[in-house]
Amino acid sequence: MPHYNYGMKNERRQPNMRDRTHKQTMRGDYLSDKQYVVVAIALLMTHILLELFYLWLGCIPMALINIASILIYVVSIIVIVSNKVLVSIWIMVFEVYLHVVCCCIFLGIMCGYQLWLFGTLSCVFLPFFLPGLNGFQKKQIGIFSVVIIGTFMILTTLGRQNLLPTNYNASPEVANVLYYVNAFLSFSGIMFYAAAYNSRMSEKNMELQMAAEHDFLTGIYNRQRMQKILDAEILRAQELDENHLMVAIADIDFFKKINDTYGHVTGDEALKELTKVFSRYFDEGLLYGRWGGEEFLLIAPENVTYAEFGSMLEDIRKQVEDNEFMSGNEMIRFTISIGAAEYKKGMTSEQLMNTADDKLYIAKETGRNKVVY
Ligand code: GH3
Ligand code: MG
Ligand code: MG
Repeated sequence: MPHYNYGMKNERRQPNMRDRTHKQTMRGDYLSDKQYVVVAIALLMTHILLELFYLWLGCIPMALINIASILIYVVSIIVIVSNKVLVSIWIMVFEVYLHVVCCCIFLGIMCGYQLWLFGTLSCVFLPFFLPGLNGFQKKQIGIFSVVIIGTFMILTTLGRQNLLPTNYNASPEVANVLYYVNAFLSFSGIMFYAAAYNSRMSEKNMELQMAAEHDFLTGIYNRQRMQKILDAEILRAQELDENHLMVAIADIDFFKKINDTYGHVTGDEALKELTKVFSRYFDEGLLYGRWGGEEFLLIAPENVTYAEFGSMLEDIRKQVEDNEFMSGNEMIRFTISIGAAEYKKGMTSEQLMNTADDKLYIAKETGRNKVVY
């Protein structure tokens, strides 16, 4: 008998293809791949300009180191494009770190290259609290962050004591300008990164919220959201004197037969067709969501009487009956049965739903394709 080990910690388990699937489907933190390519290209261009600058300064060590940097960015872009974004991030972060250290050593701290360490630190530390990082990854981030802070302290101290083997002919004026350019670029870099990261996280949040409250197949509200709406409506109805809340449950007739005859894909199509019919009443104020399987909860628009709601439901039933859709070569039609109920003071949401369910049962028992309210 096969035995599965889902969700259990097993130290001896070897990484396999399924792990890769998990990793791929879990992605979406950090920036998007496109944004990283933009960052890498921007840094590549910067370093090409820097090459000219180092040559103009006559700082040969930095001109040589910069050629290595340019090559590193070319490699980074290739690495991102070949889908290893995380590797590329580490390569770029290390490059910035090493380049900055070399600049401080050969050009001195007066030029302000050490300011880039703030940006490097932000990039390294920002993902520290992401869920899903293991202890080893956290340790790596922690150690690198401490190293960056330590490097900043050491470079500043050595620079102030004139202990760096500074080797350039930049005048104090050039160094001054460079300081402000570095300050501007490095701080706007942090701002850009933080803003892009934030917008990415907000996007993810929206996606999560959508997924948590919408039905994946039909795109309409799911049960969780409908339950919240129903609870809120019941609270409101309790405060009002007249009956104000009416609900209905719509259920596809012989849905199992549709699945069995035409297949599940056609069954799914039928569910989508049905939501299209409901959506025609959205502007009139009808609220609807998927309650489960082939059952939908409908909440009446405000300011309609129970009789008006009944005839709206009758309309819906008729439109579904008249609706046909193509699936493969087959023209498919189906019907629905609806049971409705009106809220009475003191009812709970379960009692209200049960009343609608009882009416639905009557509709099913007395021939289907009908509305009972
Ligand atoms: P009745 O007229 O009494 O409602 O009969 P029925 O066949 O519609 O009801 P039954 O409860 O016997 O079957 C419901 C079927 O709905 C069974 C299930 O496979 C199918 N179903 C539930 N959710 C989905 C879905 O998302 N897609 C598809 N294709 N089928 C679904
Ligand atoms: Mg059914
Ligand atoms: Mg059902």
